[in-house]
Amino acid sequence: MTPETRLEKIIDDGLCIGCGLCTAIASEDALRFGRDEEGEPRPFAGPTLDDAVMDLVYDICPGFNLEGLPQELASAAPQQDLVWGPHVRMLQAHAGDPQQRHIGATGGVLTALACQLLESGEVGMIAHVRAAGDPPHFGEATISRTTEDVLAAAGSRYGPTAALAQIGALLDGDEPFALIAKPCDLNAMRRLAHHDPRVNRLVRYWLTPVCGGYMPDVGFRQFAGRMGHDPDSITAVRYRGHGCPGPTRIEHKDGSAAEHHYLDVWGDDDSQWVLSFRCKVCADGIGEAADIAAADNWDGGAPTREGSETDPGSNAMIVRTEAGAQLVAAAIGSGRLVEETPLTIADLGRMQPHHVRRKLSGQARARGLAAAGSLAPRFFNMRAEELDTALGEDDRRAEEDGATRRAIQRRT
Ligand SMILES: Cc1cc2nc3c(=O)[nH]c(=O)nc-3n(C[C@H](O)[C@H](O)[C@H](O)COP(=O)(O)OP(=O)(O)OC[C@H]3O[C@@H](n4cnc5c(N)ncnc54)[C@H](O)[C@@H]3O)c2cc1C
Repeated sequence: MTPETRLEKIIDDGLCIGCGLCTAIASEDALRFGRDEEGEPRPFAGPTLDDAVMDLVYDICPGFNLEGLPQELASAAPQQDLVWGPHVRMLQAHAGDPQQRHIGATGGVLTALACQLLESGEVGMIAHVRAAGDPPHFGEATISRTTEDVLAAAGSRYGPTAALAQIGALLDGDEPFALIAKPCDLNAMRRLAHHDPRVNRLVRYWLTPVCGGYMPDVGFRQFAGRMGHDPDSITAVRYRGHGCPGPTRIEHKDGSAAEHHYLDVWGDDDSQWVLSFRCKVCADGIGEAADIAAADNWDGGAPTREGSETDPGSNAMIVRTEAGAQLVAAAIGSGRLVEETPLTIADLGRMQPHHVRRKLSGQARARGLAAAGSLAPRFFNMRAEELDTALGEDDRRAEEDGATRRAIQRRT
């Protein structure tokens, strides 16, 4: 295969998530970032793309490389769970600052932790994402140096978001930072750390929202159309926050605005979620590569229509490393974080049933993709074989067949 066809293979197999990492670390003459015919952010081959660049991309691309914590951090964790992975503790908490809690996607804990890191001087900047200006339903990478910047970027961006597009410049800048990005983005950064020692030197904290998947451009346009919006006249989108989950707010050029329920965006159960193909076969929505992963705490994995405007929001948190535990302790000590109650593995399973299924079936789905001739996800430090065994023979076969069918369907 030529370097160009190797790149196209990732995209044709539906595995590119548009994170921007490959274009961030290659020269612009080799890989350029743009939007494809369907509106999705994608890398495009340039005149100097060669096999050396593609060898690196094939080793780090989160489309099919999923790596958890480095072995030494994973084995140092006092708790080890087959599904939930290494961790120090799990807890329910919210931001101590009422404004951060209100504006944050759930209970504002990622915002609160980022503020803790900046105000304590642990790092001078947070690399994360904010609402994009164009198109406004996308997210875009940003740097926050003040608590005001952090708050302005709070909330979940459910549209395509190239969270790693600025990584090349950040590594060149040689200034330590905390990274908040989706689990897959962090998987990619853990892979990049094998090739670039600056990653482990400069990324001081790895924080993530637990993630069930992002909605591609087409999914947002369908939702907007269903709700009577002309997607091209939309100037601002806030998916959630201002309560938990809070309304999805859409603003238009003419100054009008409308608010919809979270369930109008996503549907009443997870079978209705419009997700990128890669997200449907994801085996790490729970942030295995992070020091701390922050999640929702709804029983069954989704909110109800009643009460979500008045719920002030509380996060379920998985603290995986000692560095994460110290950060949480410092944030509780400073009042930036309020601990409500410890959580158990059973609590997490009740709150995130879709992630338990995904975790168990990751390996079988990877085999299913390979059987369809697609690139198959590779797992590093993720208990892949043990999870596969725990799935059981009937479910293994069903997941394999399902993934093969899905991969073939999306090509036709
Ligand atoms: C695409 C997506 C899918 C999700 N699916 C689930 C799920 O299945 N189950 C679940 O429990 N929770 C899910 N969440 C997480 C949940 O929506 C909250 O983000 C999480 O509970 C943290 O809440 P918070 O109040 O601490 O966040 P905030 O304090 O509002 O902080 C959010 C932080 O995350 C960053 N961020 C937001 N969107 C993105 C993005 N797309 N890429 C990278 N960084 C981002 C922001 O820059 C900000 O720093 C998902 C989030 C996203 C973005």
